[in-house]
Formats: sequence, structure tokens, C-alpha cells
Amino acid sequence: MAYGNGGDKKLLRKAFPAGSTSLGNDLLTAGKRADLMLLRERYLAAANAFVDAVFTPEPLCGTMSGEDIEKVLVAKQKDLTGINKAYAEKARLSITPIILTVEKHYLGRIVGRLAHCASRIPATAALHAPAATRIYFNIPESIQDRVSPATLENLEEQVKALGSRKTLALVARVVLEGNHEGLDAETVLVIQTVHAECLERYRKPEFGKDPRYTCQIHLDYRVVRGPEADPKRLDGVARILVDKANRKFRTFLEISHPIPRGEAIRIPVVMSPKVLSKFDRNARIGSLIVEVGPDTVHVKTVASKQIPGTPDINDCLHLVARDFGYKNTVTLSVLRRDREIDPAEMKSILDFDKGEARAYLESHEHPMDNVVARRRFSGQAFLRSIGSTCARIDLLASEIKLGYNKLERLKSNICSYLGTEPDGRFADDLALHVKDPLIKQLCGKFFRLLNHIWHLKGLRLKLFAKINGLKKAWFGFLSNQELKLAIQYQAAVVREDLTVMAKEKDAPDYKGRTFNKMINNGSKGQYLRRATDKLLWDGILEVAIPSFYTSTACPTHARVDATMRKGDSFRCPLCGRDEHADEHAADTIGNYLLLRPKAAT
Ligand SMILES: [Zn+2]
Repeated sequence: MAYGNGGDKKLLRKAFPAGSTSLGNDLLTAGKRADLMLLRERYLAAANAFVDAVFTPEPLCGTMSGEDIEKVLVAKQKDLTGINKAYAEKARLSITPIILTVEKHYLGRIVGRLAHCASRIPATAALHAPAATRIYFNIPESIQDRVSPATLENLEEQVKALGSRKTLALVARVVLEGNHEGLDAETVLVIQTVHAECLERYRKPEFGKDPRYTCQIHLDYRVVRGPEADPKRLDGVARILVDKANRKFRTFLEISHPIPRGEAIRIPVVMSPKVLSKFDRNARIGSLIVEVGPDTVHVKTVASKQIPGTPDINDCLHLVARDFGYKNTVTLSVLRRDREIDPAEMKSILDFDKGEARAYLESHEHPMDNVVARRRFSGQAFLRSIGSTCARIDLLASEIKLGYNKLERLKSNICSYLGTEPDGRFADDLALHVKDPLIKQLCGKFFRLLNHIWHLKGLRLKLFAKINGLKKAWFGFLSNQELKLAIQYQAAVVREDLTVMAKEKDAPDYKGRTFNKMINNGSKGQYLRRATDKLLWDGILEVAIPSFYTSTACPTHARVDATMRKGDSFRCPLCGRDEHADEHAADTIGNYLLLRPKAAT
């Protein structure tokens, strides 16, 4: 992961896991554990206080710039007491990007949903999905029959013509001012509903409560040899101590106490010798991330280095080509660079549109005799794990939905007994104030069910985290293989350009909404960013070629024909032999810049 937060733009930053310590066993004395818990508590409290100071409940009313947010936070920091100033500052610095992100997502979601309000869930999808009644991706079932397709299509057109800023102004006019001028009732209903759904998902970040926001503290630190070094000569909030004489632990993390003038906390951290050697070799490791969880402390080091210069493509002996797919997540081909590449020609090739790409592939050829190595990585096991996890998520989702329906019925029952309106929330202690045993029983049922739903939602969050973990591990492994090949063969990496995405050739069959969301959308982009970060870090040149027709061309015969590809196999009638389709695509991508004008026949 490249790690950047403004600052010096010329530096690349990267976080490495450096070690961890469990808070659960007898590793730490009770006093130290209490200090760490206090640190976590104070830090989260400070972060939440900062959020309270700058969170906007309805960003449609207007948002602050990052600079304005920072000004409010700096003022707020002066009021904070009971926390070491250095920690307060670290907490403060983490807030602005989070606030800007949640606001951006909220406003972006409104525009995105309106801009695609007419897009329908495919019929094949509805056949398999448990709830087959929903028609539109972005319009809830509750209103889908009250708006005509024409209304939705018109609204889509209108939003696309307005662009996001003016669309948001329109939404603000409708929902904040109640001004419906020039809009029919159906359009108003759609805007109100989409807005309400987005607002429901726009929540104030709550550190500690929401598992997505851990207590992640960014610290400046020093490495010190031997715990006996004179602490007065050191500054920074944290340091790593290395004690070779200690039999049990070699490395300790020492961090400042959460309370001003408190004694520093020294905790043993299990670090591998490999990580330690990074500290030795790389003096540019500049900061430390300490994540204090409820039962573990994780340490990450943030290394930074100058962006290495990437070589000229003609200095590379080989090209490593990447084909990204589903059946095979990644197929790599290593090809010998068998001619000089003219920089001006390369530039024009990289800018090809679809027509130019076809003309180029049909007028240029290559004997395809320069393949040095191939690696194909099947994605079957990976997709199976993701698929089964998504199936569990879908099950939970329908259970949660059923639970909510039941909850609504209970609520309206209770309200009709009590003679109150069913909107608004029940107080947590409602059951205590109710006399009637029947209603008391219903109230008990209501809160037990509510707790159960929360439990299910927690399980669902864990499954989403599991999917992210699976993707991270698999993509991390694959991008490492790619990097190793590039280093071993002194190669540049050639891949398809993502900005113009060709239609997926082997996207897996529809397996439910969640599966689509987790795999089809964005996986390619996730892999690409991961690989690009690694290649950049190691100074390897990456070239993105146009993605048109790369899976349906035979460079040997300068032919483009979609019928040559059938599933896993590629067969050009002139070549007369079967090839693996993904390997053939990777070879074609790799040789794209090496094609030469077709010899006259
Ligand atoms: Zn051929």
C-alpha cells in the first residue's frame, strides 16, 4: 500500500506490519495494560470530540473546506485536557481527511444514484436472487411502482445534463426548501426517497464504536540501541528499543503516556529479525503507526523514499505482460524485447482509440517467437471462498430484512396499544414504564429482536472484512509474483489501460448482488493500484496499452476476429493450433509495442 498524506509529494510512503503484542495474556503488567487502555480511551475520546466540532449533519446545506475544518480543529484542540498534547495533535490530524471523505461519499452517492436511477437489475439476476421483486438498482421497492420508467429516464437525462454541482443544488432546493417548482410529483418522490436513503447511510464517524475506525495513532519515532540509552537526549512520541541482552524479548516499543507528564509506557513487541533489519538499513523509515485494539497492539512502520527514476523502455531487456481475468486472476507472459521502440511511435500507440487500435492490429504483425516464460494463476479457489462468504452475507441480509419487517409489525402493535404515533424511536427503557403485562411482553420481544438484528449486522460486517482480507492476500501474493518476474528479467510491465474498459470476457455468472459488488466492480482496479504501487516503489516501468481487441487478435497473421476466442481457448484458423486464451492475450499485450508493419504479400 502506498501511503501518502500530503506533505512532501516527491516521497513515496509505504506501511509495513512491524510487530504486535497481545494484551490478553500475561505479557504485560496490569499497570501497563491499564495505561494502554487509557491511551486508547483518551485518544478515541479526543478524536470523537474533534469530529463533533466539525461534523455537518446535512452536507447539502454547505460544507467546509479542508482548511476551514483544520482551523476549527486547532481551536478545539486548545480546549482538550487530560491528554498528552502530542497525542491530541495526532488525533486532530486524522480528522479532516475522514470528514472530507464521508461528505464526498454522501454527496457523490446522491448524484450517482440519481444519474443511474433508471438502471434495472437484470432479469437473470432477479431469477436467482432471494428477493426477486426489486426492479431498479437505485430505487427502493417501496416506491418502484409509483414512478414510471419514463420519469426515471427523464430524471437520468436531466442529472447528466446538469452535472453534479447543479444536481446537488436541485436536490437541496427540493428537500431543504420544499420548492418543487418545475418538477412533477413522481420526480419529487424519487429525489426525496434517494436523498433519504443516502442520508440514512451518512453517519457521523464514531471512533471506537464503529470497528472500521480503529485507534490508529501515527507517531514520529526514533530507534534506540539498548534500553539504557539516555532518554533525555531523545525526542518524538515513540521509540523502538532493542535489547540484545534480554532473553525473552529483543524489541520494545516505548510510547509517551496518554496523560501529560505521565511515565512512558514500554511494551515488548514481537518483531521478526527481517523487520528489525529494515530499521537498520533504512534510515528513511520516518514514522510509526500504533494501533491499539481492545486486545492487541499492532505496530506498523512507515517507510518513505524518493521516487526512483523509471528506466527507458529500451533499457529493459524484457517485457512482462499482464492479462487480468476471473477464471485466471492473472496470466503473465515474459517476452524478449526484440527491437528498439521509438518513443514517438509508442506515444501515439498508447493514445489509440478503438478504430485506430483495430487498424493497427490488422496492419501489423509479429512472429510471436520471443516468449521466454509464462505464469498462469487460477482464481478458482479464490472465487470459491469469496462466493461462499457472499452467500452467507446474502443469507444474513435476508434474515436482517425479515427481522426488520417483524420489528415494524411489533412496533405498530405496541404503538396502537399505547396510542402513540409509530414514527420516532422507542426509549431504551420503555418496558420499565409500561404497566400492562401484554405490552410489557411485546416490548421485551421488540428489544430482544433489535439486539438480535444488531448481532446479525455485526456478523455481516465481519464477513465483509473477511472478503477484504481474502482479496488483499491474494492480490498481494500475485502482485509480488509479477514484481519478482520483472526484477528477474530486467523487464518493464505492460498491461491494459483501464480508463477505457473492454467488456469483461470471462466475468463469472451472476451469483447474487453481493458477489457482483465484491468481485465484478472494482477488483481489476484494486489489483492494478496494488501492482502499480509496488512497481513504482521498485522503480519498474509500467506501460498501459489500449485494451481493445487484445483478446481476439492473432498478431502472427494480423487478424482481428472475435470468433477466434471461445471460452478458455484461442484458435486462429491460419495458425491452426489451439492456445490458452488468457496466455494468448498476455502474449499479445506484451508484443503490442513490438509489432511491425505487415510484410507485403
Ligand atoms: Zn494466426
